[in-house]
Amino acid sequence: MSHTAIDVFAKVRGHEREAQLRAARDADLLPYFRTLDGPARPVVRMEGAERIMLGSNNYLGLTEDARVLQGARDALEQYGTGLTGSRLLNGTIPLHTQLEEEIADWMGTEDAIVFTTGHQANVGTLGTLLAPGDTVVADSGDHASILDGCLLSKAKLRPFRHNRLDKLERTLEKAAGDGGGVLVVVDGVFSMEGDIAQVPAICDLCERFGARLMVDEAHGAGVLGPTGAGTAELFGVADRVDLRMGTFSKSLASCGGFIAGSREVVDYLRVSSRAFLFTAAAVPAAVGAALAALRVLRSPDGPPLLAAVLDNARYLRDGLQERGFAVVQPQPLGDGRDVVTPIVPVLVGDDWKAVLLWKALYDAGVFVNTALHPAVPPGGALLRTSVMASHDRATLDRALDAFSSVKAAFEAEHGPLPTSFH
Ligand code: PMP
Repeated sequence: MSHTAIDVFAKVRGHEREAQLRAARDADLLPYFRTLDGPARPVVRMEGAERIMLGSNNYLGLTEDARVLQGARDALEQYGTGLTGSRLLNGTIPLHTQLEEEIADWMGTEDAIVFTTGHQANVGTLGTLLAPGDTVVADSGDHASILDGCLLSKAKLRPFRHNRLDKLERTLEKAAGDGGGVLVVVDGVFSMEGDIAQVPAICDLCERFGARLMVDEAHGAGVLGPTGAGTAELFGVADRVDLRMGTFSKSLASCGGFIAGSREVVDYLRVSSRAFLFTAAAVPAAVGAALAALRVLRSPDGPPLLAAVLDNARYLRDGLQERGFAVVQPQPLGDGRDVVTPIVPVLVGDDWKAVLLWKALYDAGVFVNTALHPAVPPGGALLRTSVMASHDRATLDRALDAFSSVKAAFEAEHGPLPTSFH
């Protein structure tokens, strides 16, 4: 019997995806790891050329707001570049506590806890609150960090088909038989497809089955609802959602994440969540920027920014649809209104075609994000466009013109693109 282990690195050699990536990079077709030469503005410099930025999560355009820059600078000056330790030990500064208090106030919850990233907020919450014997019911479109937290917890994972309430109901019926606690977790706004969870109906089901509910508002907070508190606020059901997660890495122009909920649960996370306890605290500049951005959002300047980003989203969505692209439909709110989120995906279907279309747009001066399997279901490759409040109509029109001309040339060579989203 051999005592020599196989090389644990063997899997990285001849890895199919790696080979594909290398081939794409060699042909200058790789849509990933492109570098920005400046801030994420509506029009950016990227690899030596100007490109319209339709691939940023800087939804409110606050990363260069004078007040947000000042918040970061003040924090940097006062507390230095890093905190060199965990929140539990030496890493808490008053800005963390203020941010937590203001988030709780904004979300209308008893308390909130700030994590160093949004990913850690999900992993550190789900991995802590769920335990073997519990069941977690998750939408199949949920963000990877939710899945990671669920897997870490070793709770029984019961996924249900994306945004299908009938499937959720059936899954909850099964989960009730599992015998443990049940938590439902959904994205409020789904990060790739830009559609929204029907939160009131999900609350009804959770209440009927005695399940707890957590909503990831990474793309809903700072975007939806009268105060930008997210999908639950938009639907008027914030008080029926047990836990709301959010990030500072999108509308709030920084980096970090939070969980808002009852004092009891948040306090438990503060002393039990390993992704909170065993990592360094968010750096002062990040906390100062997030706090300043939250204050801008909650000032009289906030609502016009929220209106602007949603107007731009609708304008881009409608424009792409008029030009024959398969784009996500406006999302019904159940009261006759509908909403378009800043995430406006264009369905391409085939992975390779998506890469080629991305490159044609890039060369035409428009940057978008490319979402391939496993970020989307197989055969569901899409170009994920996203708008900012600070895009003006002339810029969006230029982007739409680029989409039109690229489409004609692309279809002549590669055949028709899909015409309907799903
Ligand atoms: N949840 C969702 C829905 C997200 O889209 C993201 C980031 N893309 C995260 C969580 C993780 O947030 P962060 O990037 O702040 O770590």
